[in-house]
Amino acid sequence: RIAVALFTSDLRVHDQPVLRSALHGADEVVPLFVLDDGVRRAGFTAPNRRAFLADCLAGLDAALRERGGRLVLRTGEVVDEVARLVTETGATAVHVAGGVSGYAQRREERLRKALAAQGCELTVHDAVITVVPPGAEVPSGAGRDHFAVFTPYLRRWEAVKLRTVLGAPRAVRVPEWVAGDPLPSRDAVADTSPGLARGGEKAARKRLSAWLADGVSGYEDRHDDLPGDATSRLSPFLHFGALSPLEAVHRARRKADAGAEAFVRQLAWRDFHHQVLAARPAVARADYRDRHDRWRTDTREIEAWKAGRTGFPVVDAAMRQLAHEGWMHNRGRLLVASFLTKTLYVDWRIGARHFLSLLVDGDLANNQLNWQWAAGTGTDTRPNRILNPLAQAKRFDPHGDYVRRWVPELASLPGSAVHQPWHLAGPDRARLDYPDPIVDLAEARARFLSSRP
Ligand code: FAD
Repeated sequence: RIAVALFTSDLRVHDQPVLRSALHGADEVVPLFVLDDGVRRAGFTAPNRRAFLADCLAGLDAALRERGGRLVLRTGEVVDEVARLVTETGATAVHVAGGVSGYAQRREERLRKALAAQGCELTVHDAVITVVPPGAEVPSGAGRDHFAVFTPYLRRWEAVKLRTVLGAPRAVRVPEWVAGDPLPSRDAVADTSPGLARGGEKAARKRLSAWLADGVSGYEDRHDDLPGDATSRLSPFLHFGALSPLEAVHRARRKADAGAEAFVRQLAWRDFHHQVLAARPAVARADYRDRHDRWRTDTREIEAWKAGRTGFPVVDAAMRQLAHEGWMHNRGRLLVASFLTKTLYVDWRIGARHFLSLLVDGDLANNQLNWQWAAGTGTDTRPNRILNPLAQAKRFDPHGDYVRRWVPELASLPGSAVHQPWHLAGPDRARLDYPDPIVDLAEARARFLSSRP
């Protein structure tokens, strides 16, 4: 008996229910990844994520080879490729992780139909991509399909009994005659960010262990410290599933300190956004709550924001970090998103698209719903809150180190003076190759509050 383990956003061998179950019911398994034309057509394949994906696939292949197997890669429409493989191998079972996006949900339906016609069983596994399966935390009989407010969600989420962590399989037997395409190479991907991190399960596990040993205890106090860079940086690994979020929660809980608890709460935020998207796939594009915004479309301002040339140093620093690393600190994401959607009053979809073109952790659930949260069209309970970039800079980069790191034009300005280059005396100001603020904050604030009905 042959089974197919179809990998999607779960590129690992540790705590991997899809692979474990496929192995359990079969003599041989085909670990399959499809470079999906559907995902490519949807434009969801930015260079940074393609490069990181190549690392993750190489890592997965290596881990399978250590166990006597290998990864089989195919290219095409995912459902056609799985069906073709089932015909080739006579596989009787296909295992896959449950996804949350509209695309993943349609993929599952199409797979179910195609495989039923072939007499092959499809098993969809929960708690692979998220810690708690979307919907599992909703009280039965409550007449709703998701939570819109985080705190009650968190209470329910914390009460869910988690499954135990699964060990990596010892041996994986893959039929020798099954052919695959060559794996993509990271080096072949053009236009990646120069400071892009390396992917793969080994790197993910190393980072988690180091984080739990050295970083997490200070997380509660330091997670908003922009120059301190005191967050886990696990997001790209979690996005590609090179790390199990459930394993991260179990291991963090063993630390039992305030930092670990705060870190687990962030993983609950991740699940929170996933359960919103699972229940409302349309909110990847549509407003979760329509506020009747009359968004502005000033191309010059939008381009200045993208380029990190708004004249607000902390905004520009964060945008340049994004371009350089394909990653941005959460505090940076919050303040640049507020700046675009509330100060410039530009549609969140424009910002979300730009983020997705660069973020190595770019994720439909987390990105779109955090953007909506920041824009006040999403689940935020204070939709008209505006983050003032100056106040944010003084609070989260009090000595200006973050700005000096990312905006070299301002590197000569000492301390917090770096946040207000417009206060410099004429000749000193003139010497800087740095723009004046593109907008007056007080006017922008009044514009936003009066434009939003
Ligand atoms: P840590 O602070 O160490 O947190 C641990 C993990 O918790 C993260 O890796 C992430 O998986 C999860 N997490 C933390 N904060 C959030 C959050 N607010 N929402 C959901 N999950 C969270 N995160 C993404 O993974 N992909 C995105 O595309 C993405 N886009 C964002 C866009 C905007 C406008 C904003 C405000 C936030 C976005 N986030 C996104 C959430 C958050 O900024 C990142 O997850 C975080 O910065 C990643 O860094 P880290 O791994 O060091 O996080």
